[in-house]
Amino acid sequence: MGYDLERFVGYVNEGLLCCVCRDVLERPLQAPCEHAYCSSCISTWLVHHHSCPEDRLPLDVGSLKPLYRYMRNDLNRLQIRCVNAAQGCEVVCSLESLHSHEDECEFAFISCANTGCPVQVERRGLEAHLSECSFRSRECPNGCGHTLLSIDQSQHNCVAELRTEVEMLRVEMLCKVEEVRREMESRLDSQRRHMVQKESQLKNEVEELKVKSRKITYEQKTLKTVASFPRSGYPSVRLCSAERNCKNNNKRNPLKLHLRLYMLQLIKS
Ligand SMILES: [Zn+2]
Ligand SMILES: [Zn+2]
Ligand SMILES: [Zn+2]
Ligand SMILES: [Zn+2]
Ligand SMILES: [Zn+2]
Repeated sequence: MGYDLERFVGYVNEGLLCCVCRDVLERPLQAPCEHAYCSSCISTWLVHHHSCPEDRLPLDVGSLKPLYRYMRNDLNRLQIRCVNAAQGCEVVCSLESLHSHEDECEFAFISCANTGCPVQVERRGLEAHLSECSFRSRECPNGCGHTLLSIDQSQHNCVAELRTEVEMLRVEMLCKVEEVRREMESRLDSQRRHMVQKESQLKNEVEELKVKSRKITYEQKTLKTVASFPRSGYPSVRLCSAERNCKNNNKRNPLKLHLRLYMLQLIKS
């Protein structure tokens, strides 16, 4: 939508009016047929049409161009009244500098900056509003440390506030203690399981060692018996040929030989 023609002071060339809304061009674009439009007007038009709204020549978005420079200059130089003229702003400025004026116009309505405040005031009245805004906040004058909205100030009770705060902290602390207790318990549990496992492993090892020790004792006994056996003159035993072979093969290991022969004797006797 363009700027309302009524707001302009002095003559406005008809070439600077939008062919769609008939107001003064805002963010203008130009078609190859040289007709000009506000960019919002022509983009809305081209959604349902494929031609210039003025002469019906074919037109699409891609063929739109910026306005000729001399026309842009003419447009920028037009004198326009501030949008807040109805509120009392008497500023008339060039179209080019309109936005920078309106951004800081004292008559423009702006929202109060305090969170939650629905009030809209003229910029020039903002300071007065802020000093009495119900949503302004300040620290409690009694020193409890709370920040108070002036709207709540009459209901503020330092003792009650502090009591609630202490209660909240107590609950928070209890929760933390419970959390730590649970964590410790789970850690102890896992350690306990680990210990039980280790214990059964050690028990197994002890059993294995016992078996080994019994074996060694038995071997020791056998060796002692063999050692006490006379070196020569075994009780006469008839050896078969395999046994004689065994005797010959084991000549290099006399202890083993003694043992074998002794066993043989025991079996035969
Ligand atoms: Zn327009
Ligand atoms: Zn045209
Ligand atoms: Zn103004
Ligand atoms: Zn306010
Ligand atoms: Zn207080």
